[in-house]
Amino acid sequence: QDVAVITIDGPSGSGKGTLSRLLAQKLGWHFLDSGAIYRVLALAAIHHQIDPEDEDAVQPLAAHLDVQFDTDEDGEVKIILEGENVSSTIRTEEVGAVASKVAALPRVREALLRRQRAFREAPGLVADGRDMGTVVFPQAKVKIFLTASAEVRAERRFLQLKNKGFDVKIGDLLHDIQARDERDTNRATAPLVPAADALQLDSSDKDITQVLDEVFQYAKSKL
Ligand code: C5P
Repeated sequence: QDVAVITIDGPSGSGKGTLSRLLAQKLGWHFLDSGAIYRVLALAAIHHQIDPEDEDAVQPLAAHLDVQFDTDEDGEVKIILEGENVSSTIRTEEVGAVASKVAALPRVREALLRRQRAFREAPGLVADGRDMGTVVFPQAKVKIFLTASAEVRAERRFLQLKNKGFDVKIGDLLHDIQARDERDTNRATAPLVPAADALQLDSSDKDITQVLDEVFQYAKSKL
């Protein structure tokens, strides 16, 4: 079976989440938010009081993670962990920080591979993450690596969180983003690096419509 995959990798706040969602919608394809899986795992570790750096403890949790992605009539995705709707809980900075810790563990990443690949279903998949084009779907036909400056990303994150009613400081966000970039880029397993065959785009001075247009045209030319 040869179901097409478009991978969209990059740091948080680059706009890849929104881009991936809109692109999947535009194409009528499935969508994988792989960061959400790491976030759900982080939340499970917090709930079960498991040290996020203890690989022997986190690995079995990852292998048996009881998570469901339910799409309702409006196309809104609900994320259910152990029967509980955690869609908004997993979006906090605290959970994001723990997510990047569990994500640094090689056997944990390995345990989540099959779960991520299962999202590849007809008519196609748009996969959003850090290692979609390098590790999870290396054979993808279209690979995008989306970046933006840390300052621009902190500002976007600030607006996003403010809209959701979270009380955050932009300086703290910038600091968190830089720390998370550092961890994600320098880890030994599946570091945040562009695939050799990825199209690299900088979204700092572009709005999402422009980026979506560009990526859509590029994808059409490659598929
Ligand atoms: O993209 P998001 O901020 O939701 O991801 C949360 C964390 O999960 C990231 O900081 C990163 O450490 C990790 N992650 C990853 N590989 C992916 C997606 C996310 O390591 N494919």
